[in-house]
Amino acid sequence: VAERIEADVAVVGAGPAGIAAAVSAAEAGRRVVMLDEGPRSGGQIWRHRAGRPPREARRWLERLARSGARVLAGASVADAEPGFELLAERGGESVRVRAGRLVLATGARERFLPFPGWTLPNVVGVGAAQALLKSGASLAGARAVVAGSGPLLLPVAAALARSGARVEIVAEQARAASVRGFAASLWRSPTRLVQAARYRLAFRPARYAAGTWVERAEGDDRVREVWLTDGLRRWKLACGLLCVGYGLVPSTELACLLGCSIEDGEVMVDSRQETSVAGLFCAGEPAGIAGVEAALVEGQIAGRAAAGRPGAAASLSRKRDRGRRFARRLASAFALRSELRDLPEPGTLVCRCEDVPLSRLRPEWSARQAKLYTRAGMGPCQGRVCGSALEFLFGWKSDTVRPPAVPVSLATLRQGGPDGAGPTEV
Ligand SMILES: Cc1cc2nc3c(=O)[nH]c(=O)nc-3n(C[C@H](O)[C@H](O)[C@H](O)COP(=O)(O)OP(=O)(O)OC[C@H]3O[C@@H](n4cnc5c(N)ncnc54)[C@H](O)[C@@H]3O)c2cc1C
Repeated sequence: VAERIEADVAVVGAGPAGIAAAVSAAEAGRRVVMLDEGPRSGGQIWRHRAGRPPREARRWLERLARSGARVLAGASVADAEPGFELLAERGGESVRVRAGRLVLATGARERFLPFPGWTLPNVVGVGAAQALLKSGASLAGARAVVAGSGPLLLPVAAALARSGARVEIVAEQARAASVRGFAASLWRSPTRLVQAARYRLAFRPARYAAGTWVERAEGDDRVREVWLTDGLRRWKLACGLLCVGYGLVPSTELACLLGCSIEDGEVMVDSRQETSVAGLFCAGEPAGIAGVEAALVEGQIAGRAAAGRPGAAASLSRKRDRGRRFARRLASAFALRSELRDLPEPGTLVCRCEDVPLSRLRPEWSARQAKLYTRAGMGPCQGRVCGSALEFLFGWKSDTVRPPAVPVSLATLRQGGPDGAGPTEV
């Protein structure tokens, strides 16, 4: 083992939730180490903005730097054992962390659903398009269609339009009445409402079509056309870039490995963000998709609790409850319509790592049987892409998670044994 670290509190994930947890525990005097596989702290929303992070991000990152918490960027946590022992890989070397308390703040990922043509070049996730733009890629002049579901479609369409792409349409699968109801409920969060209006203005000439979804994409060496439908009629649009995402799915692999109770894909937590495993806390998107404000609040509650501080301040608890109510409204307004299940054809790849088409899968199977018989979900992404699609299509829940939780080298797994360097204290 290249390095062993002992800490009072370990935090996995350096997004808003992890940063708030690490800061709160370190400011309470605990030795804290925070690990993230990304090259810098900030998570999905802030880490790409190295040059000009928003004010809120700057405030938290400065507080993190002053807090004394040790930050291990580029550290992928592959295994976690009760107690708590983490095995991570960083720069090709293994790192072992032992901590009295653990906070999981592993965020969420995009949900992809298969449809004919979804594997064509230039069909990308909405989050991937956003990451490309944030990393400086030029999509100027591209004829873009943004489709799928959820609020994330708006910032992505706005960013594409601002970068010079021609946004043809933003197709939201949720019914217009649901979207309107959700927008109306935002009067209690004026910041969100103003932000949504700004995004809408940015891609204004393009239509925002609720109750509309992608039926198929066609092309040759890349996508050329996309077929859309509103359930009554179907039409075709020329398109050079199709960005599709059907909301977010909590990343719960490490929580599963450690035996936490999980319901409807979300880690169950109490009012202190403690999971069903004593000493193990969870904050942010793995406990439910509620956005950055809720992630920051839950991170603070979890960090304080992991540091052994008494219950959360009443104001934080109130904000947390507001965040959870927002999450429930979000989930119900953007619930996936059943028509999306009928899109894949027999030849449509469902597991693209292992090239498994729909025709090889039987509805009466379980996720485990599909793995055994076809290898669906056993490729390099380990079901991160197809797992939620299979659950949506067939109702198959992924029942087992085995280490490594993220791809790491065999050398790291081998070095994860008991021999190696003595511990470094944080
Ligand atoms: C693709 C995508 C794009 C988004 N875009 C927007 C947007 O434009 N606007 C907006 O308001 N919200 C956006 N969101 C939602 C927003 O990111 C979240 O609301 C917010 O970041 C939640 O913070 P978090 O700390 O819970 O999770 P995250 O910010 O996702 O942080 C989780 C962190 O955990 C790390 N991690 C996970 N597993 C491991 C592991 N095994 N080992 C090491 N590190 C690990 C990840 O690298 C990540 O940095 C987006 C979400 C996604 C998934």
